[in-house]
Amino acid sequence: MNRLSKEEALGLYRDGTLAELCGMADAERYRHVPGRRVSYQIDRNVNYTNVCLSCCKFCNFHCRPDQPQKAYTLAFEDYLPKIAELKALGGDQLLLQGGLHPRYGIEFYEDLFRRLKKVEPSLKLNALGPPEIAHIARLSQLTYREVLVRLRDAGLDTLPGAGAEILCDRVRRFLSPAKPTAQQWLDVMREAHRLGMSTTATMVYGHIETLEERIDHLLALRELQDARPQGTPGFRAFICWPMQLTGTELARLNDEGKLPEGITLPGEPARWPSDEEFLRTVAIARLVLDNVDHIQASWLTVGLETGLRALRAGADDMGSIMIEENVVSAAGAHHSLNERILSDAIASAGFTPWLRDQQYNPR
Ligand code: SF4
Repeated sequence: MNRLSKEEALGLYRDGTLAELCGMADAERYRHVPGRRVSYQIDRNVNYTNVCLSCCKFCNFHCRPDQPQKAYTLAFEDYLPKIAELKALGGDQLLLQGGLHPRYGIEFYEDLFRRLKKVEPSLKLNALGPPEIAHIARLSQLTYREVLVRLRDAGLDTLPGAGAEILCDRVRRFLSPAKPTAQQWLDVMREAHRLGMSTTATMVYGHIETLEERIDHLLALRELQDARPQGTPGFRAFICWPMQLTGTELARLNDEGKLPEGITLPGEPARWPSDEEFLRTVAIARLVLDNVDHIQASWLTVGLETGLRALRAGADDMGSIMIEENVVSAAGAHHSLNERILSDAIASAGFTPWLRDQQYNPR
């Protein structure tokens, strides 16, 4: 298939039937991942702090630094039972996510990563994301590269694509003005790729963005992936999910008719991103991102049934069983699974489940 232009991608998304779009994406999936194998992973999400300066309008998880009664940071001892449980369930990775803490510079993370690796040397750390890297760089007066090198040396294995939402400054200025700009997010990832670090890319859609901005997001990822040094993985996978709006400031502003002019949400809550929109978005991502091998079906937000349908819309990975998740569940997504249920579900959908590591190799 020829590489899609912006106009072609927009036209396909708008005018193609769901069956056409999924059929094309399904064919493209087998070019990247031959056979009927569908991977999954066992990892544990640990939210090391909820203190965050950013106050994104879609986030129910964070707490401002001036709310000491709500604020927490895990003590090192808190990690130990979590790691033990992860290992008992056959997992090998911690997904460490937190917020933009006003006091945690590079030393905080170096110390945490080193201690975690000392306690459990086989543990893989998939930690932080471009917003935290940019924030640490600012606090510690380092370049993005210096932050990444020091964190890698302390034990960071892979960098999640967190905090991308929609890579468009019109959207970011309203939703999360204290977060890095779209260009800064891309610049951090570019440095990670230059260091040979494996990363992922994400997109959170279904809020104030336009369809064109969604396609531009995918094109920016594709361009950055093209620029990765030869022989390095760059973005190993792309993951998208609909924004969870329940109880958020964004939903409240919408309900009270207080969204500024030019900012609109897609109608009433009952019409917020549908399953069809998820499948179309997964499919168009597979078609546009012709240089990213793995597309994940993020069942955590859309539920298992829709996640499995995405396996026929271009996805080849079911993500993780997610032993602990606090961020999207704080805004309305309450799904959880154990390994047997996930692997049986993949098999019953007609695919061969296989457990992978964080580099998408069989375990
Ligand atoms: S989404 Fe992340 S950066 Fe934004 S307020 Fe929540 S924790 Fe902070």
